[in-house]
Amino acid sequence: MLVVGSPEQTDTALLAGEIPCPHCSVPLRPHGHARQRTVRGLGRERLTVRPRRARCSGCRRTQVLLPAALALRRADAVEVIGTALAAKAAGSGHRTIAANLDRPVSTVRRWLRRVPEKHVHWLHKQAVKHAFSLKPEMLAGPKPWPSLLGWSLNILAGAALAFNHRARMELPPWTVIGYFTRGNLLSPPLRN
Ligand SMILES: [Zn+2]
Repeated sequence: MLVVGSPEQTDTALLAGEIPCPHCSVPLRPHGHARQRTVRGLGRERLTVRPRRARCSGCRRTQVLLPAALALRRADAVEVIGTALAAKAAGSGHRTIAANLDRPVSTVRRWLRRVPEKHVHWLHKQAVKHAFSLKPEMLAGPKPWPSLLGWSLNILAGAALAFNHRARMELPPWTVIGYFTRGNLLSPPLRN
């Protein structure tokens, strides 16, 4: 699984041989599509995508190219989960967040459980890495957020704006954050 930007941009890059295999760096080639998925956006918005599949001519592994607006293994788009995490960082509880997002309390509780301290540290690391390469001055000065989660989301959002500016694109910030975090805004489920 590879997390990529917008579907259109991915098609162009894939056809031009600009997406390297994550295992052996040989350019990936188009290899059909994965099954269609519909995820929920904010409010009643629905997002239907049919992710591209690609194959490496070097090691012959196939990859699904997951658009960055989608979170791995989740029925809700990154913007919905991200909005929930930002609300948590601002002090809201899972019931309030669920009511505001019009999602079941159990779903929101499950998301919030998937950001244990270890994962917040991982998110912070990704945030600092991208901010450092895109706009390092963002990292200077005092941390205005009381929690590391809030601070990390804040840096990710700033880095997303800097990314759009540099790439001359206008991708939704949460989509760019999905790309920065490789679809793992929430930590992967524990293996049983
Ligand atoms: Zn390969």
